[in-house]
Amino acid sequence: MSQSVTVITGGAGFLGSHLCDRFIAEGHKVIAIDNFITGNPQNIAHLFGNENFRFIKHDVTEFIYVDGKVDNILHFASPASPIDYLKLPIQTLKVGSLGTHKVLGLAKAKQAKFLIASTSEVYGDPLVHPQQENYWGNVNPIGFRGVYDEAKRFAEAMTMAYHRYHGVDTRLLRIFNTYGPRMRLDDGRALPSFVGSAIRGEAMTVYGDGSQTRSFCYVSDLVEGIWRLLNSNTNDPVNIGNPAEITILEFAKEVQALMKEMTGKEAAIEFRPLPADDPKVRQPDITRAKELLGWQPKVSRNDGLRETIKYFLANALPEKNIL
Ligand code: NAD
Ligand code: UDP
Repeated sequence: MSQSVTVITGGAGFLGSHLCDRFIAEGHKVIAIDNFITGNPQNIAHLFGNENFRFIKHDVTEFIYVDGKVDNILHFASPASPIDYLKLPIQTLKVGSLGTHKVLGLAKAKQAKFLIASTSEVYGDPLVHPQQENYWGNVNPIGFRGVYDEAKRFAEAMTMAYHRYHGVDTRLLRIFNTYGPRMRLDDGRALPSFVGSAIRGEAMTVYGDGSQTRSFCYVSDLVEGIWRLLNSNTNDPVNIGNPAEITILEFAKEVQALMKEMTGKEAAIEFRPLPADDPKVRQPDITRAKELLGWQPKVSRNDGLRETIKYFLANALPEKNIL
């Protein structure tokens, strides 16, 4: 039997590059597509020269041409951190809408399975806690976060339309805050922001009073969930995330303590105004993932944070121009 071919859009990003590694390790041929708008060639540099890996530099909001057969498409292209999508509002809306349309068109033409990286942000600032897949969300369409939330909600609607009207075999993955090596230290998300400040000898900035909650999932757990979802037969949305919920202030204190242990230096914590529409709570209900995929996260926050901080410390040297 011939080898499966998997296209990964956003393949040079944080999550996309880990997916490239997993699919190559599973014996797939991988074609990564990325325009580097928020990604980094360094994330996939180790795959260049691998005969099963191909890279196409391309903006997926434009017509996508891929020759030969394609079995699976994982659509991960999109700015993902709040400061990225606030800086790139139009590109974020375009990649979620026009980009998703183009990638679905490719899936239809190739009769490929299609999986989209959606997000817990489709639930907005949720009025239901924890969030189950049947919750429709509480999103401000004209707020700063609207460019991301509404792009992803449109992307889900477009995906369901291609499933219902064109018979494309689709998967809807709702990812909750995921962290790990290859996050950019300057992407503004809570963990890299705290670690970056501590490395520079600055105070870690907690927005608001830090009582808002998040639930952080380590990247290897997410990748396992994605692998299982792709290989399942459900077309319904599935939450993948770690239900271990924590306030941002407690999270900052955990990072502070680990940074002190690992570098000998202790960063202060400072409070800053809470950005508009910042969700007050977030925690995935993963009953569906457990039942349909037999999946649940395995990596503790302590272990995951240690691995990620090690990565940041090894890659945050001034000559690498990351700081
Ligand atoms: P990332 O910014 O590291 O990766 C996104 C990649 O997409 C980058 O390499 C970027 O250059 C590429 N890209 C963006 N627009 C493109 C375009 N028009 N054409 C081609 N490539 C383009 O972010 P990430 O954290 O790896 O997120 C990947 C996906 O997962 C995104 O769709 C994001 O919305 C989703 N997601 C991530 C999280 C998380 O916690 N990391 C949570 C929910 C959803
Ligand atoms: N946050 C913070 N300090 C920072 C960066 C983020 O207090 O330097 C807060 C942010 O306001 C939010 C939470 O941490 O409440 C998670 O933010 P992140 O950008 O990681 O992801 P979000 O879940 O908001 O998309």
